[in-house]
Amino acid sequence: MTFVTPEPYIGHLGLDGVGDTKGLMESELRERHIKWITNARVDHMTADSVIAEEIAEDGAVKERHELPAQFKMMLPAFRGVSAIRGIEGLTNPRGFVPIDKHQQNPTFENIFAIGVCVAIAPTGKTAVPVGVPKTGFMIESMATATVANIERLIAGEKPNVQATWNAVCLADFGDGGVAFVAQPQIPPRNVNWASEGRWVHAAKVGFEKYFLRKVRSGVSEPFYEKLALQALRIDKLKAVTFD
Ligand SMILES: Cc1cc2nc3c(=O)[nH]c(=O)nc-3n(C[C@H](O)[C@H](O)[C@H](O)COP(=O)(O)OP(=O)(O)OC[C@H]3O[C@@H](n4cnc5c(N)ncnc54)[C@H](O)[C@@H]3O)c2cc1C
Repeated sequence: MTFVTPEPYIGHLGLDGVGDTKGLMESELRERHIKWITNARVDHMTADSVIAEEIAEDGAVKERHELPAQFKMMLPAFRGVSAIRGIEGLTNPRGFVPIDKHQQNPTFENIFAIGVCVAIAPTGKTAVPVGVPKTGFMIESMATATVANIERLIAGEKPNVQATWNAVCLADFGDGGVAFVAQPQIPPRNVNWASEGRWVHAAKVGFEKYFLRKVRSGVSEPFYEKLALQALRIDKLKAVTFD
C-alpha cells in the first residue's frame, strides 16, 4: 500500500504538524508496511495503476511514479458547494467563504460562515498546495461565536465575539489511534500536544456513543461537558474581545 500525499511530510496534516505528529504518523505507517510519497500530486489513473508526480520546491516535476494499484482511494481537493461558488464577494475562487474574526463575510454583512465552507489560508508555502482541515470542535467554536454575534446584531449592537478555533481530535486507526489538541488549530499555538495508543480507539468509540446520545436529546452542550472543558482550559470563545 502506498500513501500519496501533497503534504511536505507525513503528519503535516495541513497544520504544519501538531506536537510530534510527524514521528507518530510515520511510525504508524511503517508498522503497517505502508510506503509514502510526499509533495506529490496524482496525474491520472489507469485500471491497474496510479501515476503520481513528486514535485520539487521550485515547482518542477522531481520524479514520476507509476504505482501498480488494483484498489485505489482518492480524496480530491476540497472546494465549495456549487450553490454559492462564483458569487462575487461571497466566495473565493475555490468556492470557500472569506470571513472576518467574527465569522462575518466582509462583503455581505448579513452572511456568517461556519464550518468546512470557511476560507482559511494555508499554514505556509508547500510545493503542492495543502489545505487546512476544519475539525468538529473548531466548528462548534465557530457556531457558538456566530450565534452570539447574531444575538448582538438583533440587539442593535456590532458583532464582537470571536471563536477560539481550538482543535481536539481523536484519529481512530481501528485498534489504536492518535489524539491531538491544538490551541488554536492554526500555528503559532499555546498548546501543541499529540499522543498515541489503544486508549484513543476506546475513547473514540465512547465519544461516538456520547455524542449521538447528546444530539438525539437536543442538548448540544450539557453542563458537565462545559465543566470538563473548562477544567481542561479548552474554551470555545476568546475571553477578551478588543472592539
Ligand atoms: C473522512 C473525514 C474524517 C473526518 N474526521 C474528523 C475527526 O475525526 N474529527 C474532527 O473533528 N473532524 C473530522 N472531520 C472533519 C469534520 O467532519 C468536518 O469538518 C465537519 O463535518 C464539517 O461540518 P460542516 O457542518 O461544516 O459541513 P458538513 O458536515 O459537510 O455539512 C454540510 C451540509 O450541507 C449540505 N449541503 C451542501 N450543499 C447544499 C445546498 N446547496 N443546499 C443545502 N444543503 C447543502 C450537505 O449535504 C451537508 O449535509 C473529518 C472529515 C472527513 C471528510
